[in-house]
Amino acid sequence: MRELLADAADRAARYLATLDERTVFPSPEAIAALTALGGPLPAEPLEPAEALRLLDEVAGPATVASAGGRYFGFVTGGTLPAALGASVLAAAWDQNAAFRVMSPTAATLEEVALGWLAEVLNVPAGSAGAVVTGATMANLAGLAAARRALLLRRGWDVERDGLFGAPPITVVVGAEVHVSLLKALGLLGLGRERIVRVPVDGQGRMRPEAMPPVDAATMLCLQAGNVNTGALDPAPALCALAREAGAWVHVDGAFGLWAAASPAYAHLATGYELADSWATDAHKYLNVPYDSGIVFCRHPEHLRGAMMMGAAYLQSDESREPAHYGPELSRRARGLELWAALRSLGRTGIAELVERTCGHARRFAEGLRSAGYPVLNEVALNQVLVSFGSDAVTRRVVELVQAEGTCWAGGTAWQGQAAMRISVSSWATTEVDVERSLEAIIRVARDVSLLEALG
Ligand SMILES: *Cc1c(COP(=O)(O)O)cnc(C)c1O
Repeated sequence: MRELLADAADRAARYLATLDERTVFPSPEAIAALTALGGPLPAEPLEPAEALRLLDEVAGPATVASAGGRYFGFVTGGTLPAALGASVLAAAWDQNAAFRVMSPTAATLEEVALGWLAEVLNVPAGSAGAVVTGATMANLAGLAAARRALLLRRGWDVERDGLFGAPPITVVVGAEVHVSLLKALGLLGLGRERIVRVPVDGQGRMRPEAMPPVDAATMLCLQAGNVNTGALDPAPALCALAREAGAWVHVDGAFGLWAAASPAYAHLATGYELADSWATDAHKYLNVPYDSGIVFCRHPEHLRGAMMMGAAYLQSDESREPAHYGPELSRRARGLELWAALRSLGRTGIAELVERTCGHARRFAEGLRSAGYPVLNEVALNQVLVSFGSDAVTRRVVELVQAEGTCWAGGTAWQGQAAMRISVSSWATTEVDVERSLEAIIRVARDVSLLEALG
């Protein structure tokens, strides 16, 4: 075992050390070579070390180098050293985090990490939380608590009696709502399209003056961090409105809620502490491994009411039982990685991580602007949207930047215009990475313009 683990650690370390020299997106040849790992399941066993070698040598080269410093696709964090180490231990320990009796360690560390996270994200003390797989599941859990609360008020126990015949709920979202929140609404029987969409401004923020009437049967879903612009909905005005009416406020704060972690950016997240439930990701801004999301709920009884399950054999006592607050039962002890990441950074380290990535985003914006390319968003957080000319030219630049391999940034459309979307979320990104990436993007964009001009 020791030899195998040492071999795995060697291979992992070599992988990370060589990320800087390879293209960020794998070559077509590396991807094609993956077929060697398929075919019918072989009848004969294989030595574990040999299986590991095959994985490393065949699957490794076909990975996307998102663990490195020049991956700016989607909103993708890397893995902090402490979190990576904790992940190795967690795999060795193989704890089931469902119930305290299955793993006192997992239950305790998860509880500690949730408490620290609540502090960092300015979630009120006394809120309940759960560790889930990502913001999609966190949205689902938060909205399930909301659904329960709003219906219980009107004498309807939705967990017991289901939705057929239940009093209606109004769901209000911004026009720029994330698709995962709509998916959660669909899974909860509330409907992906049975929603009221609030018009947004040029940054994708809900416009308070365009809010429809809300009442005590309304779920108002705010977004902290638009996936394109990074903008946060104006929570102070919207939460005040909702509170007055007795509506439930849910926050999809997958990455934007992390503004609260830095004194320099906390003003962006003002007002979010007034919400009733919050969904966020740890695998984005906190840079822990996938799959790690968090839900918080101001009203522990409603999250618990929506998620609770009991059976004679599921022994539990008075302490917090993880499975009573989240949608899953058996699961990995993700709390170990959360704890290690938070403990290794400390409050100042978390703030610094947010500030550093946002600083890199500003440098991207400045470099692109001074090369003559318009930045389409206010770079308030870690997202940059840039156009390289016509939509066709912009899309071509995105495609060629991805193929060139120095870095990877995605394409998007922002309010009718094609854009490259640069998202800086990784602890691993350095100033050198940003300059190298800027140089590559600008070089590719100039080549595309030149070819365009020559017809
Ligand atoms: C990433 C993201 C999600 C989905 O998160 P997963 O962790 O991928 O499930 C939801 N909302 C927003 C705003 C996001 O950025």
